[in-house]
Amino acid sequence: MREVQLNGRDISAYEEFVSEQTKKNLRDLSKVLKGKKIAFVNSTSYGGGVAELFYSILPISRSLGVDLHWLVIDGDNEFFATTKKLHNMLQGKEGSLTAEEINHYIDVNRRNAEEVGENFDVIVIHDPQPMAMPLFLGNKAKHFVWRCHIDTSAPNKEAMALVHRFLPLYERAIFSLGAFASGLNIKSPSIIHPSIDPLSVKNIPISRIAAEEIVARYGVDPHRPMIVQISRFDPWKDPLGVIDVYREVKKLFKDMQLVLVGSMATDDPEGWKFYQKTLRHAGEDKDLFILSNLDGVGSREVNAFQRVATVVLQKSLKEGFGLTVSEALWKKRAVIGGNVGGITVQIQHGVNGYLVRENRECVEDIIDLMNNEPRRVEFGEKGFETVANKFLITRHIEDYLKLFASMLVKASV
Ligand code: UDP
Repeated sequence: MREVQLNGRDISAYEEFVSEQTKKNLRDLSKVLKGKKIAFVNSTSYGGGVAELFYSILPISRSLGVDLHWLVIDGDNEFFATTKKLHNMLQGKEGSLTAEEINHYIDVNRRNAEEVGENFDVIVIHDPQPMAMPLFLGNKAKHFVWRCHIDTSAPNKEAMALVHRFLPLYERAIFSLGAFASGLNIKSPSIIHPSIDPLSVKNIPISRIAAEEIVARYGVDPHRPMIVQISRFDPWKDPLGVIDVYREVKKLFKDMQLVLVGSMATDDPEGWKFYQKTLRHAGEDKDLFILSNLDGVGSREVNAFQRVATVVLQKSLKEGFGLTVSEALWKKRAVIGGNVGGITVQIQHGVNGYLVRENRECVEDIIDLMNNEPRRVEFGEKGFETVANKFLITRHIEDYLKLFASMLVKASV
């Protein structure tokens, strides 16, 4: 168990993105929470959407005066293999966990809980990996909240039973979509949509020239059309399907390029294997680029690829939210997403992007967008508005603070 220390970011920098009402709400809520100590607990400080969110939520909340901490659990390979299996099962994959795997999972949770040396008013446990910790935290927190970031709309029954074993430990459960809570049979969930930080290195404006230079450094031609998908190497993100789609599109648009960027998260042992599989599926194609953090593709580079893309894909088959969709919409890109999970609250089909269920539709929609620049521009403009109104970090922080205030104020009455 270790605490992640983050550099300060000041809420005042967000003035231009926030309404007067939101500003007032944030000020009032942080007053209510003064003196309260809150912790987020998750399983990785690198890779994937949850860590991405924390790097913004934590420092901004702290600048508001909220005493929020970030604790990351430790685990061995066996533990992370089990939790990845559990994650996949919660997203509907078949399979089961052995008694030995479950015991080890609980034991790692226990060891991490024992290492928590402070007391908190609220501890928010994120995702299934640390979900059993409250069993061993005793009175180290007054309130426990479970925040589930994954698509649990149709879970494997065994995984659901395991989650239900721990749920009574929690006062609240937060989901990104109502359907995810219903899938787990959870009554009165809290629904909070994730968000993006307009001032993070990933999303901050960069000039077209700077973005083109970055892209060109990887051998990608910024003056030719390109399809870009940014996501972990994971079957649910369907990189193999994206490659098949690109091959179809390339029959018509000979100068098309495909860029797949995927980071390796420390809590995702499957990632490496699936990365190799993706490389094999890609074969030899000088217009197909598979890049990762190991090639030096960090947040600034992702920002550049998202800005230079002709079409951004997030062709997921299951998706908790899909921050990459809002990231690309914010950059006024034409986005095509899988018609699943959290992507459906970000893209309205035919209004600010396209939603697709299968490869054929995806190919057709890319061709449509390639032939229709005004539509690409219109989707981009509408997409930007969508994110500005619904998916910025300040609204997200307001939602969390409201929830904490409702729990702590009620408790003190
Ligand atoms: N990401 C990144 N580099 C990569 C792949 C992903 O920075 O090579 C980021 C991406 O920009 C987004 C996050 O990781 O901010 C992924 O979040 P999302 O909600 O899309 O998916 P998750 O990985 O949480 O399933």
